[in-house]
Amino acid sequence: MKQIVIISGKGGTGKTVMTGALAALAQNKVMADCDVDAADLHLLLSPTVKESHEFRSGKTAWIDQNLCRQCGKCISACRFEAITEEYIVDPIACEGCGFCSFVCPQKAIIMQENLSGDWFVSDTRFGPMVHAKLGIAEENSGKLVALVRKKAKELAESNGSEWVIIDGAPGIGCPVIASLSGIDCALVVTEPTLSGLHDASRVIEVARHFSVPVKLVINKYDLNTQMSEEIEKYCCENNVECVGKIMFDKSVVQAMVEGKTIIEYEDSSAKEAIIAIWEKMKKDLRG
Ligand code: SF4
Ligand code: SF4
Repeated sequence: MKQIVIISGKGGTGKTVMTGALAALAQNKVMADCDVDAADLHLLLSPTVKESHEFRSGKTAWIDQNLCRQCGKCISACRFEAITEEYIVDPIACEGCGFCSFVCPQKAIIMQENLSGDWFVSDTRFGPMVHAKLGIAEENSGKLVALVRKKAKELAESNGSEWVIIDGAPGIGCPVIASLSGIDCALVVTEPTLSGLHDASRVIEVARHFSVPVKLVINKYDLNTQMSEEIEKYCCENNVECVGKIMFDKSVVQAMVEGKTIIEYEDSSAKEAIIAIWEKMKKDLRG
């Protein structure tokens, strides 16, 4: 079983379009949406939820007013000023360090686990998908990404799937690092702009740091052919395989408006390019 993650240094480069297309093309696979802060793969794949689970992560202090003797020790101890003069914990300010609970002589402070989001196992027209939703203003998206990855891998192993196709988290922070661990191929989707190259090179560095093999796709390459050449030059100099270039194609937007992947839509240059990219990747990864 091979795990492929589609990433981009930033949002809006066509990462989810590419993930949806690979989901349509790859046979015998499990999909995972690791963009847990702003998941949108479900808009293309319309999943039917089969299992729903709570995601608990981190802790927040809570004061049992029946036990509290209002000595104020917890207020002095909390360096985050998360406890009010009324001996109530502000859950937004509380960092969950547990020090107040340690110093409270009455054992009145309980550290409660936070409900940080939900994760799901769903059916789609292309097969099973594991995805998640992080609660508003919740942190720990890296942990949730790791959980989604783990569940997708377990599902792929139990189904005897050949592929796990992952929509990676954007950026270069903790969630993208969690998206990259143990991956067989990271496909970086970029666009022909200076910031596109900058963001792609940063995420490639992160992938390389974790010894993940990287391939790159230039989306809408014809909108700036000079910049596309720059990106190809960067690939040559940095030993990154540019596995394909996709022309700007109105069909991509039209397909999305109809809730379809580009593969399910009428024939187009973008569809043809993505099919060629997948054939190449499949061959390389199967060795
Ligand atoms: S340390 Fe304990 S007893 Fe003292 S004010 Fe805080 S919660 Fe109440
Ligand atoms: S757990 Fe830490 S941050 Fe939260 S109220 Fe207690 S001392 Fe403050």
